[in-house]
Amino acid sequence: MLSFDKKDIFAKFTAPSGEEVEKHIEVRVNPISGRTSRIAFGRGAEKEPGTENLPLPPPNSTDTANCPFCKPQVMSRTPKIFSDIFPGGRLCYNNSILFPNLFPYGAYSAVSLFDNKHFVEIGTASVSSYTDCFINCRNYLRHILEYDSEAVFMAITQNHLPSAGGSLIHPHLQINADRIAANHHRFLKKRADRYFRETGQYLFSDYLRHEKEDDSRYIGNTGSWEWITAFAPEGFFEIWGILPEITSLYQMTDSDWTHLAEGVINAQKFYRSLCRNGYNLGMLFIEDQKSYLEIRVVLIVRSNYAPWVRNDHTGFELMLGDMATFASPEDIAKNAKVFWHNLPYKNPA
Ligand SMILES: [Zn+2]
Repeated sequence: MLSFDKKDIFAKFTAPSGEEVEKHIEVRVNPISGRTSRIAFGRGAEKEPGTENLPLPPPNSTDTANCPFCKPQVMSRTPKIFSDIFPGGRLCYNNSILFPNLFPYGAYSAVSLFDNKHFVEIGTASVSSYTDCFINCRNYLRHILEYDSEAVFMAITQNHLPSAGGSLIHPHLQINADRIAANHHRFLKKRADRYFRETGQYLFSDYLRHEKEDDSRYIGNTGSWEWITAFAPEGFFEIWGILPEITSLYQMTDSDWTHLAEGVINAQKFYRSLCRNGYNLGMLFIEDQKSYLEIRVVLIVRSNYAPWVRNDHTGFELMLGDMATFASPEDIAKNAKVFWHNLPYKNPA
């Protein structure tokens, strides 16, 4: 069975005013990974620099002429897929165009554009643009599996704006497929498979069952996708979408992709309400019929893309390995919920 453990610790000191204070820190254990993370409530009251307002668009937000992802130059400045994999060279699905990544991270590394919009502020994209882009990624991954049936370790990721790792501001997703598992593929497959062997249950479905009963971190659903905040976050404002008992791309319907897009846009609108403009998204697939790992998407806010912003990973995270965030996942779920249920949003600050 999964356990949702947390412990309170307190840091006591004498404040400059002479007053004795006690600061509360919570250490939570991730029920999936066993990794600890911390919530340093003391920093919650501190306003992060650069989050007073949504930062202005970057200086190159109108420079479409020099962008390799804008039309018409996208067709001459981006590479083509090997004809053995896909004869057309680039995959198109409505306005989405997909082509190989010029700077690959794996054997099959591609980029999928949403459309010809060069700069899109967080939370303002259309659901259809995300649906088209996701379906284009799915189609590419299917072509890869037909070409190389052993490249089963797959992922779709997004780095929105350079503060989240994006090298071009023109919105896009990255797609990766390999015969070699990444760390998270390797760990999660082992964990989900063992969990199924021992309990007869799917890992993320069981996690979700607990979270729906508990209700303090449950946000809502879009179709079959169920949305929650992470119990033991490893990133700021971490939101998960889980597609229960679905373990393969081939089991996902077109409407699952639309409902995924709806949830992602809801999360983006929530992040925008917090004046955050950078985030990462990721979903992993293991296209091996023996895998019990269900489909999950993770969204994490990153440092704003604005001048003089503090990085969100400090010596504490990098050297001790415990992520420290500042707000409780329960409060985040309460505030995110309004974007799933069309309720009026009141800024917590
Ligand atoms: Zn562009």
